[in-house]
This record gives sequence, C-alpha cells and structure tokens, in this order.
Amino acid sequence: MDSTTLTGKRALVTGSVQGIGLEIAKALARSGAEVILHGLPDDAAHAAARMQLSDITEREALSLSSDLSDGSQTERMMNEAQTNGPIDILVNNAGIQFTAPFQEMPRQKWDAILAINLSAAFDTMRLALPGMMARGYGRVINIASVHGLVASIHKAPYVASKFGLVGLTRVVALEAAQAGTRDSGGVTANCICPGWTETSILEPQIAARAALFNGDRNAGIQDLLSEKQPSGRMSKPEEIGRLVVWLCDPAAHNLTGVAIPIDGGWTAQ
Ligand code: NAD
Repeated sequence: MDSTTLTGKRALVTGSVQGIGLEIAKALARSGAEVILHGLPDDAAHAAARMQLSDITEREALSLSSDLSDGSQTERMMNEAQTNGPIDILVNNAGIQFTAPFQEMPRQKWDAILAINLSAAFDTMRLALPGMMARGYGRVINIASVHGLVASIHKAPYVASKFGLVGLTRVVALEAAQAGTRDSGGVTANCICPGWTETSILEPQIAARAALFNGDRNAGIQDLLSEKQPSGRMSKPEEIGRLVVWLCDPAAHNLTGVAIPIDGGWTAQ
C-alpha cells in the first residue's frame, strides 16, 4: 500500500495520545489520512502526541479531550470531531482493564469498564455511521482483545465488554453491508483482537507476575507469555497500526464483521 492510499480521509482514533492508539494514529497519518487525536484531559500528553504526528505530516493535528465514561462528553467530542468534515475512519481504541476474582470485583469497576470499553463505542458508531453510509465509504475498527474471543480468570468486566464489542461490531457490519460500492470502498466494521502487546495497560499484571519471581520483570513477562501466547513474543503497538491501515484500503470493502486476532496463536489453541 502506498503512502497516499488514505489521502482525503479523516480518521478519529480514541485513546490515541499513548499506547496502541498513538501508533494507529501515526500509521494512518503515514498513509495520508488526516488524524484526529483523542484522550483524557492531559495537556502534556496531547502536546507530545501532536508533536509525534507533526513529525509525519505537515498538518497540525486536532486533539480532543473527553471522558468516554460520560455519554454526553462523547456526543460533544463527536460533534467537535465532525465540525470541519465527516469522519471516514473511526477507531474505537480507548479501553481500561482491572483484574480481580469475580466475587471481589467492585461494582464501580464493572460500570466503568462497560462504559468505556463498550458503551462509548456504541455512541461513537451511532454518531459516525450515518455519514459513512451516505458517502459510501467508512471504516469502523474496534480494538477488542483476545478477551473478546476467549475468557481468562479475574477479568469478568473486561471479557464481558470485549465479547460485547465483537458482537456489536458484527451487527453494525451487517446493517452497513450494502452501503456504497466496490469502487467507493463500502462501509465495513471489524475488530482487531490483540494478545499481549507492549503498552502501559499491562503494567499492573506484569508487576503482579514479576513479584512471583523476586521482582524480575523479564521473568514475569516470560511467564505471562508462556501461559497464553504460544509465539512467546509480545506484539508491538505499531504492528496493530499496520493492520488498521490495511483494513482501511478500499480493496478491503468485502472484509467486514470479523474479529482478527494478533495473538501469537493464543486463540488457535
Ligand atoms: P493504554 O492504557 O496505553 O491506552 C488506553 C487509552 O485509553 C489511553 O489513551 C487512555 O487515555 C484511554 N482512556 C482510558 N480511559 C479513558 C476514558 N475514560 N476516556 C477517554 N479515554 C480513556 O493501553 P493500550 O494497551 O494502548 O490499550 C488500547 C486498547 O487495546 C484498549 O482497548 C485495550 O483493551 C486493548 N488491548 C490491549 C492489549 C495489550 O496487551 N496492551 C491487549 C488486548 C487489547
């Protein structure tokens, strides 16, 4: 795919001032898309992310702050994002995690995880899809998880949210399937389901596992990997960015309603 495949397309990536979201934003910008960054209010993080994007493109990126656990903030963010033009590519990436045995899981963690990982995607898709369908091109890419395909202990709300996101994405894929044409690229909705990927969301789990090995972080990481991810390798966030770009190509017009694992074989077992 050449570096201008997505020229003229506008993309919103939620939770994109760090981690997987930032690498997705950078990959889309490298392919010519105009990228709108988003994250929780944190001026320094937004400025640093904008700087990384400006190294790739001359354009000054818009970066929006909102708390996705609040539906009214999400609606405001979507209006702001679409003030200067429609969103062609929507990447629902923002997400949180909390681990605890099911019977000890705090009710407020359940509410927060479901709100951010699932309900926010309902809102952003609801507000972006009509425009995509009218124009005949649109891409919804939801960053789910292997935990949208298989369960693990101590992750009840996270697993529920990600299974929900996979199901919700399939419904949207079906309802948008007839929009557009092969030439326009159609409107597709898919999930990417990462396994262990090097970002800060894993730090509490790495720390807990390292504690079993006298605080040896690398031993903790290897133990986590050997339990679930047969390749024994973590993914890098930029690898997910490259798949996002590929899904945005108009040639992917018939690739819809799928949940693609990037998990070193985790869900093949
Ligand atoms: P991360 O913690 O680095 O990034 C999460 C992003 O979500 C951050 O930008 C954060 O600001 C944003 N966010 C969190 N709460 C928010 C809120 N209330 N409102 C707005 N934004 C909020 O983690 P990451 O690994 O980059 O995670 C990105 C996505 O990938 C998540 O959906 C996560 O579930 C998924 N994922 C990650 C892994 C992994 O191993 N890293 C594996 C599978 C799935």
